[in-house]
Formats: sequence, C-alpha cells, structure tokens
Amino acid sequence: MRRELHGQGAARGSALGRARVRMPHVLEIVEERVEDAEAELARLHEAIRIVRLEMQALRERLQGALAHEAGEFLDLHALLLDDPELLQGLDALIREERYSADYALRLQRERIAGVFADMDDDYLRSRIDDIDQVIGRIHAALHRDPTGVGGVAGEILVTDNVAPAELAQLQGQGVMAVVTTGGSPLSHSAILARSLHLPLVVGAAMALQKVNDGDVLVVDGATGTVVLEPDAADLRAHRARLRDQARERRQLRRLRRVPSRTLDGVDIRLWANAESREDVAEAHALGAAGVGLYRTEFLFLENRELPDEERQFRAYRDLVLGMTGRTVTIRTLDLGADKADRSGLVLDNEPNPAMGVRGVRLSLRRPGLFETQLRAIARASGYGPVRLLLPMVSGREEVLEARARLERVRRELRDAGQPVADEIPVGAMIEVPAAALALPGFIGELDFLSVGTNDLVQYLLAADRNNDALGELYSPLHPAVLRLLAMVARTARERGKPVAVCGEIAGDAAFVPLLLALGMEELSMHPGTLLEVRRAVRGCDLGRLRARLPGLLRARDRAGIEAWMHKVLPNDDKEAIMAR
Ligand code: PEP
Ligand code: MG
Repeated sequence: MRRELHGQGAARGSALGRARVRMPHVLEIVEERVEDAEAELARLHEAIRIVRLEMQALRERLQGALAHEAGEFLDLHALLLDDPELLQGLDALIREERYSADYALRLQRERIAGVFADMDDDYLRSRIDDIDQVIGRIHAALHRDPTGVGGVAGEILVTDNVAPAELAQLQGQGVMAVVTTGGSPLSHSAILARSLHLPLVVGAAMALQKVNDGDVLVVDGATGTVVLEPDAADLRAHRARLRDQARERRQLRRLRRVPSRTLDGVDIRLWANAESREDVAEAHALGAAGVGLYRTEFLFLENRELPDEERQFRAYRDLVLGMTGRTVTIRTLDLGADKADRSGLVLDNEPNPAMGVRGVRLSLRRPGLFETQLRAIARASGYGPVRLLLPMVSGREEVLEARARLERVRRELRDAGQPVADEIPVGAMIEVPAAALALPGFIGELDFLSVGTNDLVQYLLAADRNNDALGELYSPLHPAVLRLLAMVARTARERGKPVAVCGEIAGDAAFVPLLLALGMEELSMHPGTLLEVRRAVRGCDLGRLRARLPGLLRARDRAGIEAWMHKVLPNDDKEAIMAR
C-alpha cells in the first residue's frame, strides 16, 4: 500500500529503487551459534576481503576536495581492517565459541569500545565511531548478495546517519539516494551530497520503523518526500523530475562560456574554492575569475610531518600555473576547531577549540611556521598573480603584524635574487563578528575582504556549525547575519575594496539574489556549483534587488527573510531551488 514519509530535502534529485535498510549499529544482533565454524570463518574472511577491495576502489575513485574529506577516514579504516587484534579476536570467537560472524562482530565491537572508553585522550576515545563504521562495513558485506556487483547498486540506503566519507563510497557503488532519520541540511554530509549530486533526505524520523529491506521507494531530494510502494502517478512524477534534471544539466552546460552578468548588465565575479588539481582544472574550464579561496590546511592534514617550504612552494606554484594568469587567493593556515589535526600544531587540551588558537592566531604565535608559509607563498607569486588571505582575523593588530612579516619575507627573497611579485595584495577573512564590526577601523590596512559565512554565522549566533542538533538555528537566514553582511558590503564599497563571500552559501543558487541585494558582487564557491550560481546571477536584476534591500533588512525573522527570497527569485529557479 502506498505511504509517504517526510523529511527535509538536503540534496536535490529524484531516485527510484529498492530500499536497503541499515540499522544504526550491529548492537541489536542477538547471540547466535553456528554448526559449521569453518564455513562461518570463510564467510567472514570473504566479507573482509570485499570491504578491503571496496575501500581500495574508493580511494582510487576519490578526487579533488573529496579526497581530502575522505582520505583521512579511509587511511584509518584501512588500518583498523588490518588490525591483528580485531581479526584474531573475531576468528577465535567463531572457531572456539562457534558464534555467528555477526555476533562475533558485536562482541569485538563491545570489547574494543570498552578499551577506548577508558582512554584519557579525547581523540582516541572518539575513534570508536571509526570502529563502528568498519564493523558496520563488514556487517553489510556479510549480508550482501555475493553475485551483486557492488551489492547496493540501484538501491536507496535508509539509515540513521551517514558520514561524509561514506557518501562518496555509496555513490561509487551505485546507490541512488540516501534517506536518514537524523542529520541536517547544513551538515557536512549534506554539503557533500549536493556536490556529489546524490539525492539526500534527512530527518525522515520514522523511516527506520516504516521501511523494510526491499520496499520500493521514490525519493525526492528537493522536497524531502519519500514514497513507499509508489503508484503510477508517483512513477510518472519521478520520470518528469528526471526529465527536468536532464534538461537542467544540458542548460547548465551551455553556460560554461557565457559571462556571469546580471540582467541589467553588471558583471558578478565568480571565483572558485579550489584545493586539488581537479578543482583547479574545473574552475579554469568553467571560466572562474580565479581561485577565491585555497585552503592551505589540507596540505598540513595530509601527513604527520609539517610540509616544508619547498613542498608548500611547489603546491602553491602549481596552483598558480594551473590558473594560467588568473588570480589565486591563498589562505594562510587555518587549522583548529573542526579541522582535525594530525600535525600536532593545534593545542591539545583547548576547552573550546572553535574559540581557541586557530587561524591567524596560531600563525602569529608560531613565527617560524608562519614565515615558512609566507616564503612559499611569496615565491609562488613570481609565477602569476597571488593574493594572501588571513583567516580568523579579529582586529587591526593581527593584520599589521602579518603584513609586516610578509613584507620582510618578500624583501629577503628579493634580495636573494628570487622572483617575487612586486605586490602581494593582503586580505582578511571576515568571519569573526568583531572583525565585521570593527572593519571601518582597519579596512585601510587591507586590499580585499572575503566573508566566511560558515564561521561568521556560527560565531554570531553562538551555534556550532557541526552540530546537527541545532537544526535551523545555524542558518544565515537570521536578521543579525543579514545586517552584518550589508554593513560589511557597504564599508567595503565606501572604501573601494573588493569583497567576496566564500562560505557555503556563496555556492547555493538560492542565496544569489539575497547576497546581491546585500551588496556583494563577488562570490567564491566549489566549482561544482559554479554554473548553477552563474545561471542565478543571469536571472537577477541588480538594480531592482538593491531597491528591495530595505524590505529585506526589515524582515524580523527567518520566515520574513524566506518570504522576501521567494518574492525576488527568478521564476526559472523558483521551483528548482526554493524547495531546498
Ligand atoms: C568560512 O568560514 O565561511 C570559510 C570559508 O572558511 P572555512 O569553511 O574553511 O572555515
Ligand atoms: Mg572559516
């Protein structure tokens, strides 16, 4: 019988497939013994072999930003999968106690969890999530049809939550969509699902109770609707959505070489947030103005050793060369808070790392580290236009000190005969509310600004950007956020300084009219969303939007802001993006 479930649409796209239900952990598995321990062992070893192969295939498939996102998890999971203690323990439980492989997995999980729970180190304690994910993978492989290629191709995963690293793998296996009972459309997983174009519905609270393995589902990732046992009308609607998606992709492809110009003829600069060679190539092919944000911390997260000057220089120089003369904005190290650190640079026991020694605060306390990075960036500037961007700036002193160090490094390099640009513009991330408010007092020391809405929203609203439980509270659609953005744009305009927005909202077409109305004329985003944003820009009339700014700033709450957005959205985009 047809039924509907409702959650929040987190990544657009329509999918039809059979449900694969994954219960939260393997903990519900009851004690079970088997007759033939050797056959059970063989089943377990085969499942482990499959998981190893899947992980290898995933590593090969991952590219670009995803490689950074997921690579760390994969390394750790590969290590766990080879852990002799885990493996021998499982074998012993099956061989000696004749437990089923599932029950042995559960017992091993509990034993390891007990050891981890007693550890002093928060980081190690939190690794139990990784153990769960590895054990979950083996468990899933144990129950997969051995003839089915990839096991889950064509299926729709229904589960409690999904990790970013897992999403990429699921897509690689041919999973059509994901439905979760928890999660938020602003989580990291949701961001990643959007860039992977994998339909995702989050917060479908009853999904695990209502959906059974094998049920046929239609998932609409735009509206958050999940239909169980769809009827003919649902299938027709699904096919219509697929046709619309295909048409949209064709339309977007046509926008690769057109200017990002509003209806009233104003060019909006669209930059790329790019870290990998693939991102750079894509940014180039799609006509990005340049790289608006290169997050250097990824270089530091890849290995345990800190990258030396030479290694950093090569990475920055290749980035500059890849953009063939278009400007590249290199952000100095922004380790800390949510950016997990294996380098040992970040203080271990900070009670509140998001408000701790991160970004430029860390760089200024570690002059050797900072100057190495500045030298590498300055050397790269000899190969093409480079701008330097300082993260987590909270005031004037930090900018002055960083500038003085850059100047010294530049002079030293020049005196030593190295090719260095005559000028390296210096900008600040505006992501700490104090910097936004104090901007008139120090904008004179800056050449450009980049607004990091991901952090600005978190600090302004005191809402952790990674805490799904906060739901809609962590959102740029708050009157305080909009007023601050309007202020920053106005200050920048009055002082003739370019300002870009480089947080996630800059890559979301639904926000384009709002950001343009607020006075922003430069946006920086992952190249995967650049064409959608360009299309939205081309549907906007900047003059009319600006005329409506007072109405936007009068909105008293989220509902008022959304009503404004709905009113101004170009008709073509309305249906496609408002539902998100
Ligand atoms: C931001 O805070 O908006 C930003 C772009 O920086 P990150 O996401 O790297 O903190
Ligand atoms: Mg930030």
